Amino acid sequence: MQDEVLILGGGVAGCAASIALARRGRSVTLIEREPTPRHKVCGEFLSGEALEDLHALGIDVASLGAVPIYYVRLAASRRAAEAPLPFPAASLTRKALDTALIAAAIAAGVRVKRGCSVQSLSRATANLWQATLDDGTTYEAPTAFLATGKRDLRGHGRPKDPHQWVAFKMYYRLSAAQTADLADASELTLYSGGYGGIQPVEDGITNFCCVVQRQYFARAGLRWEGLLAKMQQDCPHLAMRLDGAEPLLDKPITITHIPYGYIRRATEDGLYCIGDQAAVIPSFTGDGISIALHTARRAAAAYLAAEPAPVFQPKLRSALLPQMRLAEVAADGLNNALARAVLPFCLRVWPGAMRVTARLTRVTQPAAVAPEAFAN
Ligand SMILES: Cc1cc2nc3c(=O)[nH]c(=O)nc-3n(C[C@H](O)[C@H](O)[C@H](O)COP(=O)(O)OP(=O)(O)OC[C@H]3O[C@@H](n4cnc5c(N)ncnc54)[C@H](O)[C@@H]3O)c2cc1C
Repeated sequence: MQDEVLILGGGVAGCAASIALARRGRSVTLIEREPTPRHKVCGEFLSGEALEDLHALGIDVASLGAVPIYYVRLAASRRAAEAPLPFPAASLTRKALDTALIAAAIAAGVRVKRGCSVQSLSRATANLWQATLDDGTTYEAPTAFLATGKRDLRGHGRPKDPHQWVAFKMYYRLSAAQTADLADASELTLYSGGYGGIQPVEDGITNFCCVVQRQYFARAGLRWEGLLAKMQQDCPHLAMRLDGAEPLLDKPITITHIPYGYIRRATEDGLYCIGDQAAVIPSFTGDGISIALHTARRAAAAYLAAEPAPVFQPKLRSALLPQMRLAEVAADGLNNALARAVLPFCLRVWPGAMRVTARLTRVTQPAAVAPEAFAN
């Protein structure tokens, strides 16, 4: 069967683009490798822009149990500084969010094929893309959207991650005292080889998600227990939070190869790259989901306006570049020993600096493709 558009990957970006296109009457097939949504490595923080886009997509995060987040805290060693977030924010597990997005795509009329992985994407003819799945079936369409997130498709990959980041996510039930103390805040904890985020998600659960350089993980013996001990030693604030906490997963979920700072320069005709396949912002900004939604919305608008993908992709890059570069500079600061040495001062100026950084690292919204572009 041939549709107008083939979307590879049914996470945030893939679902959002498919809904936008189906709502404008396009025939869309979306292929997602997982049979049902599962836990993903993610801090699960939803920024103001993400909330706006999700609302326009018809996703009511409050009804899914999302927890409003009003404060951000920066914790290094034993010190912590707090600032109110300058925009509305919330947190929600990716399992709940991805479940709602897939359901919205199906409701919008998207044909969803789940439980099959795309093995390759190549040209069947000059004007037709062909995706071959692991069960041997093939799908063809004149246009494809690449939305496979952290996983690269052979022939369409991103560069290697020179820092060899390793990321982990674990769920905990914190002690009653620590749950109350964390309250409605998202906390950033800093270590000599990376950083981590702690925040409440639905059902009284706390998400702890961290990103560390491979050599830091190696110094911890390449084991989660060793890493956790090392991070708590580096940052006693984390040790305080996790004191008496009950882990809720048998082992953390983990990923490697995160090419932070990557922005796709070019693409082929008829192939729009969105989400992490378009750009990968440092995780501490909590902005990856909003960028995934933003790129999906803009790519769908470009396709509907008959803007060719090779014209669209560099334009998207230019739009994302300032925010991405600023986020990278800020991330380097967090990972820099000298910066941590002057942290007592940084912590004093942190609330104001955080507000400015938070504003500057948001993606600016062109009026022509406002969140309403997702609406029915
Ligand atoms: C450590 C860490 C913490 C983060 N924390 C936050 C945060 O707190 N807030 C935030 O906004 N962002 C955060 N992010 C970023 C955010 O998770 C991503 O930017 C976002 O999920 C990108 O959306 P996507 O649609 O591109 O990818 P995804 O949401 O990952 O979706 C990709 C989908 O494609 C599917 N897929 C992959 N390969 C194939 C294949 N071959 N065939 C078919 N399907 C395939 C996958 O199963 C998946 O469902 C974090 C990232 C990391 C690494």
